[in-house]
Amino acid sequence: MAEFSIISRYFQSLTPQNINVGIGDDCAIITPPAQMQLVSCVDTLIAGRHFPLDTPPHAIGWKSVAVNLSDLAAMGATPHSILLALSLPDIDEAWLAEFSRGIADCCQKYGVQLIGGDTTQSPTLSISITALGWIKPDQAILRSGAQVGDVIVVSGKIGSAAYALRHPHSPLQHTLDYPEPQVALGQALLGYASAMLDISDGLAQDLGHILDDSAVGAILNLEQIPVADELAQLDLNTRMQLVLGGGDDYHLCFTISPDNLKKFKQQHAFELYSIGTIQQQQTCLYQYQQQVFHPQILGYQHFAKASD
Ligand code: ADP
Ligand code: MG
Repeated sequence: MAEFSIISRYFQSLTPQNINVGIGDDCAIITPPAQMQLVSCVDTLIAGRHFPLDTPPHAIGWKSVAVNLSDLAAMGATPHSILLALSLPDIDEAWLAEFSRGIADCCQKYGVQLIGGDTTQSPTLSISITALGWIKPDQAILRSGAQVGDVIVVSGKIGSAAYALRHPHSPLQHTLDYPEPQVALGQALLGYASAMLDISDGLAQDLGHILDDSAVGAILNLEQIPVADELAQLDLNTRMQLVLGGGDDYHLCFTISPDNLKKFKQQHAFELYSIGTIQQQQTCLYQYQQQVFHPQILGYQHFAKASD
């Protein structure tokens, strides 16, 4: 099956109606809503590196979209569309059918359109998705806005996907395969949160980005970080390794003034957990039940040398 048949059979049917030009021409064309800024991001998933080789193709499709929508959510943006650059080792029609269904299911759940892409042959399966969204000018929630005294909040249980990666076929497998980008929460936090990101490389490292960019520090109360039952049963060091250094959580981590947090909770019913506070001293102090705790690992890094 040739490139063009793959595109028309598996992807062109996903072209929506309310796009000026969608899949099929050289480029897609969209009319942006009036007075909105374009927000864009791209994330690549490589087989064997970002997902285990035996991951079901439907889950690969879902996750490739979800991780990008999570980045848009982390700015408070409204997702609009995606472009899909796909490199395949060979043409496996059963695989393509399931993969494109996973893409379509995630797009549909979050009201997003597939508007274009590229299809190539390569020895390794790789999926690169560019996501586009909108935001009102100067509204985006950046990493650099955390203020001393702000509360640090996460949107759900942390470490589940890292646990699932190390315990194949556990009850937490779905958290690894089907992350749920916190799109509605991200948008609801506009005007409330002072800084935000999504947790993809481990809470410690990701929170570190907010602290660095905002030139502040934090006190984290580790016992307040919510975890699944499977993690609660682990010894503290192993659990904290998954919670602080794991990855693939795709929950939001944000900072917010105590006043705004109170107001936000009065108006919204999202699951939220306060896990610490922002302090002036530019270090991150980890406490477990008021005792200082020294974590061993701090997150995933590409290109990191073993000696680093
Ligand atoms: P060109 O050669 O001009 O780059 P292509 O032949 O690569 O165009 O693609 C033809 C059309 O199909 C374009 O509209 C492109 O966006 C779309 N397309 C190609 N691959 C994919 C894909 N995997 N998913 C979605 N759209 C795709
Ligand atoms: Mg091309």
